[in-house]
Amino acid sequence: MALIVAKFGGTSVASPERIQNVAKRLIAMKNEGNDVVAVVSAMGKTTDELVGLANALNEHPSPREMDMLLSTGEQVSMSLLAMAINARGYRAASFTGWQAGIVTDSTFSSAKIQEVTAERIKAKLADGAIVVVAGFQGLTEDGEITTLGRGGSDTTAVALAWGIDADVCEIYSDVDGVYTADPRVVPRARKLDVISYDDMLELSSAGSGVLQSRAVELARKFGVVIHSRSAFSDAPGTLVKEIDMFMEQAVVTGVAHDTSEIKFTIRDADDVPGVAAQVFSALASGSVNVDMIIQNVGENSHTDISFTCPKGSKEEAEAIVKRIMPRIGGRDYVIDENIAKVSLVGTGMKSSPGIAAKAFSVLAENKVNILMISTSPIRLSIVVEGSQCQVAARCLHEAFGLDSESVFEETALSPEEIAAKMQKGR
Ligand code: ADP
Ligand code: ASP
Ligand code: MG
Repeated sequence: MALIVAKFGGTSVASPERIQNVAKRLIAMKNEGNDVVAVVSAMGKTTDELVGLANALNEHPSPREMDMLLSTGEQVSMSLLAMAINARGYRAASFTGWQAGIVTDSTFSSAKIQEVTAERIKAKLADGAIVVVAGFQGLTEDGEITTLGRGGSDTTAVALAWGIDADVCEIYSDVDGVYTADPRVVPRARKLDVISYDDMLELSSAGSGVLQSRAVELARKFGVVIHSRSAFSDAPGTLVKEIDMFMEQAVVTGVAHDTSEIKFTIRDADDVPGVAAQVFSALASGSVNVDMIIQNVGENSHTDISFTCPKGSKEEAEAIVKRIMPRIGGRDYVIDENIAKVSLVGTGMKSSPGIAAKAFSVLAENKVNILMISTSPIRLSIVVEGSQCQVAARCLHEAFGLDSESVFEETALSPEEIAAKMQKGR
């Protein structure tokens, strides 16, 4: 007998039939003698639809009201799932995040979990019920409802698994595990049986939507092993866990892509000390999350500065750039909204020279133009034009020996579909 936390994402609870399917899976787990806590996301694209409704009424909704609104999506699926379980003759109890004892800080829209007091969950489990918890939400000490950032139900699952000391934290989605790349973009991606927290965190931070990066961070901190697997099959998925550092590891573990950012270029700024400090301090004060930065070699005492930031911060960043231009002597600025970041990830890269050289050669052979580059000891990221995202991801994947014979060819997405998918989440 085990204590299982099983999280089901939006696709897995997108319709009454799929909720039935989840109910059946949970009941099967229960019948095998386990205690079961399910965490659910909002049905299908509900969260996106709620965001759309909010924007139709107010271009700048208050973060508090936004969280009040978005937290409702998960409450729909949690209660429906409990009803579906009841209809099959089993006891179930649904809880909102706050009823489940998830206490967060007060950063609306990306709150951090501070405490999990899962008393009511434990009591219901002791009572023999299947517990269903709404993902993605919590409550501040002042009683305000918060949400945990897009994809945040993964974090709810990990936090609960830790809070109730579960034996397993299973995260079910529409893929059967973590692949060496998004299988919809790189059809020859290969499923990994196991991946280290460090590699997974780097993949998630670089845009792999399969697990939310905060969830992986939390799992690493508390040693929660995640089993990422499919809601539609029984096949074993991928274990995310600590890996023995002496175990032989691939140099490159995977390729991630991210089309959720835009690029600003400030042209002909004064090439004097303090200009970059002014630009990036202003952006930081406006809470714009800057990712990559490039400053070109100065010419005639002027220089171009480029940076990337999330699409969602476009208005804020543009207003700041406009405001600061007269102070830094910039001639004008351009915004490129059609870019993609493609990253090679692997803790094994630390000790392998030549990765960047090889990557750049392969991209050149495939006529992919590189717009920006950034590196860390375990990641190489390049920014390319959005239309070259797929070809860049695929050729790097192949060049670093990650390809397999694949069954995904027919499910590959178009660049537009990839962009639409990636809008979600950031
Ligand atoms: P859920 O809604 O269940 O949380 P997500 O859409 O957040 O599911 O995550 C699953 C999706 O992640 C898959 O459909 C897949 O396209 C995408 N994905 C991106 N990178 C990877 C990867 N490396 N391995 C597997 N899936 C990935
Ligand atoms: N429903 C939220 C979202 O769409 C949280 C989640 O699915 O994990 O981002
Ligand atoms: Mg997700």
